Amino acid sequence: MYLKALEIQGFKSFPDKTVLSFGEDITAIVGPNGSGKSNISDAIRWVMGEQSTKALRGGKMEDVIFGGTALRKQQGFAEVSLVLDNADHIFPLEESEVMVTRRYYRSGESEYYINRRSVRLKDVNELFMDTGLGREGYSIIGQGRIDEILSVKSGDRREVFEEAAGISRFRHRKEEAQRK
Ligand code: ATP
Ligand code: MG
Repeated sequence: MYLKALEIQGFKSFPDKTVLSFGEDITAIVGPNGSGKSNISDAIRWVMGEQSTKALRGGKMEDVIFGGTALRKQQGFAEVSLVLDNADHIFPLEESEVMVTRRYYRSGESEYYINRRSVRLKDVNELFMDTGLGREGYSIIGQGRIDEILSVKSGDRREVFEEAAGISRFRHRKEEAQRK
């Protein structure tokens, strides 16, 4: 399983549809300050279901939509798709590729898709659970995350290891069942 491609449209500094293709090797993104490198990692976080505007370096969710410049008018929605290889069927889907899409309109409306089928945010979260991906995963190591892993609070540390061991899905289901 690896990240094959990222399609960004109307998200932050990417008004036009931009397709980034990745191989199985290491990819480094370089560019001058303010050129949009961090916006790419924000797009990955966002499509995987990130709800925290702080984690996305904004004040409100609308800030993820291209806001316009002196030369270009703002966009009405942001859309990001993430394409993951699923040849080894780590994701419980028949397809050998998994495409997750999130769209957000200025009206506040959100849409999520898995392989172009309309789904709920909950489905996206469950898809990524225990894969090490997703917003609770360790595939994106931002500032502060290292502190959490090294944290003296055993609860924080345990959550990271539970996710790595692939058992957080069960804790999540148990907690959900207990709430009912
Ligand atoms: P650095 O090297 O300083 O970390 P970077 O390449 O990571 O820079 P980013 O933080 O990804 O840069 O990009 C910042 C740019 O994105 C700024 O110019 C900012 O104006 C632009 N930007 C952020 N949100 C939006 C938005 N909603 N609409 C238009 N532009 C945006
Ligand atoms: Mg940056």
